[in-house]
Amino acid sequence: MRSVSARDPNLVTIRLRVPLGIVYPEQLDILREVALRYGDGRLHLTTRKTIEIPGVPVKFLEQAQALLSRAGWDGSAYGNNVRNIVACPGRYSCANAQVDTQGIGLELDSILGHLDHMPAKVKIAISGCVNGCTHPLINDVGVVGVSRVIFYPEKCKMCRSCIKQCREGALYLNSLGSVVYDREKCIDCGDCLHACPNEALLCEGVYYRLYVGGKMGRSPMLGQCFGDFPTQGEVIEQIQRILAAYYWYGNHEERIAHMIERVSMSSFRKLVAEIEPEKIDVLMHPEFTIELQANS
Ligand code: SF4
Ligand code: SF4
Ligand code: SF4
Repeated sequence: MRSVSARDPNLVTIRLRVPLGIVYPEQLDILREVALRYGDGRLHLTTRKTIEIPGVPVKFLEQAQALLSRAGWDGSAYGNNVRNIVACPGRYSCANAQVDTQGIGLELDSILGHLDHMPAKVKIAISGCVNGCTHPLINDVGVVGVSRVIFYPEKCKMCRSCIKQCREGALYLNSLGSVVYDREKCIDCGDCLHACPNEALLCEGVYYRLYVGGKMGRSPMLGQCFGDFPTQGEVIEQIQRILAAYYWYGNHEERIAHMIERVSMSSFRKLVAEIEPEKIDVLMHPEFTIELQANS
């Protein structure tokens, strides 16, 4: 729960885990009290939606932590852990959302939030639609809600309203004046689904699109699409498998992006597909490692 300031070794910054950045009003009083009593009177919101209390003298750290713990605040560890999971409001308040980002985010936090023994840090971000407000493609694991479209040309009355709606140019008129749907250009945003009065464009299904291997830092990389999963349960299971493959086969201080670079995407997929249930259990419950060692 602490980081020592490089400028003053007598002061620390307390960083608090704030799953999805959701804070309830009753939690604020204690932050105010700790910041005023032990810190320098400020709170700092980080890019991953954690809250920091800077300027806490080392000698008061324990008291400050005890006060925060009593109010239910958890520390957000630095190092090779699953960092604070970020999700946009999704269906909670955004009209563009295709999936329940808050539901999956809180579930992932409860399952993965305690993992602090990974090869390197793991950042997870969830966006309810392809607008990607939480930057899922520059996280180690990103989830994006998408709506896949099916076009029924025989039902099309060529009113053109969908063409105006599609910002990707995936719907256009050909030289014969017929509407064409270009699957390659379509990014599954779902915007056109509300435009068609004739049911010529219908939703084939809503999916959680999973990306792996994105990162920021000195050499940013975009995540690669790992697949579309129709239910929250299925995408969560895939994320657990991905983290288990990374945990067992990633090198120390190697981000998922660099592991994929080292082994190739096809080999990474194979590792994820073939990871044994026992290896997932050990990741989720590190105490099993000790039991396995004791029994071997
Ligand atoms: S990513 Fe999409 S659903 Fe989420 S806040 Fe942005 S626009 Fe809304
Ligand atoms: S889903 Fe989006 S990108 Fe695809 S055709 Fe419709 S509007 Fe265009
Ligand atoms: S909105 Fe529907 S009917 Fe109109 S051009 Fe598009 S697909 Fe055809």
